[in-house]
Amino acid sequence: MQVSNTDTASQGRLLRLAEEPYLSIEGEGIHIGKPMTFIRLAECNLRCKWCDTKFSWSKGVEWSHKAILDRVKKLSCVNVSITGGEPLLQAAELQILLDQLVSRITYLNTSGTVWSAPVFDKVDWINCDLKMPSSQMKSDLTVAHRLAETYPEKLQFKIVVSPEDLPHLLKTVKEIPLSIPITIQPEYNSYGAEGAVDLSEWVKTHLQNHINIRVLPQLHRLIWPSRDRGV
Ligand code: SF4
Repeated sequence: MQVSNTDTASQGRLLRLAEEPYLSIEGEGIHIGKPMTFIRLAECNLRCKWCDTKFSWSKGVEWSHKAILDRVKKLSCVNVSITGGEPLLQAAELQILLDQLVSRITYLNTSGTVWSAPVFDKVDWINCDLKMPSSQMKSDLTVAHRLAETYPEKLQFKIVVSPEDLPHLLKTVKEIPLSIPITIQPEYNSYGAEGAVDLSEWVKTHLQNHINIRVLPQLHRLIWPSRDRGV
């Protein structure tokens, strides 16, 4: 849905979205299975090899805050996930939207490569993805460490893992405070649908005493294996 001139004039600020906000089920991390409205912001500063939302790398379509809020209201779900792409590339506009979502429980999905305290302060949950070597993106835990220090009560880490990542995964997990939940998720294309089984065996051997680690498949890839939009 493209915004109208009236919306633009009344709101002033625009967010670029990769797709129309939609209602689905959270597919990852500690909130897995919850009904959730997803607002997918356009553009990303990374190019993960196995990215399953490459369409979000585009400039997207401009939406007014009012049009987004009307859509969120229509979908009528208490949980609202801000995802991407990398939502923090539009941090200033996102702050304004979050001010109008105070009646919802908000979840920010970020790659842990951009710091925006005003956005982190406003959301109820921060879901931070950590990148492993198989993503072919450079791993830098600077933002992750700062998040763990500043927002430990509302932070979780998610890590998509391919078999080649396991040594690096062990090192990364040991650098994160035990109090922060970590979900490791088998990369669907390299592990296949049974990946959680292989990864569970590895966790039983190497991380059996970690009090806050979970192995979970990416639920949306199991429920809707051939869809990349609206899930
Ligand atoms: S950070 Fe997310 S959206 Fe961006 S390339 Fe990686 S997987 Fe895709």
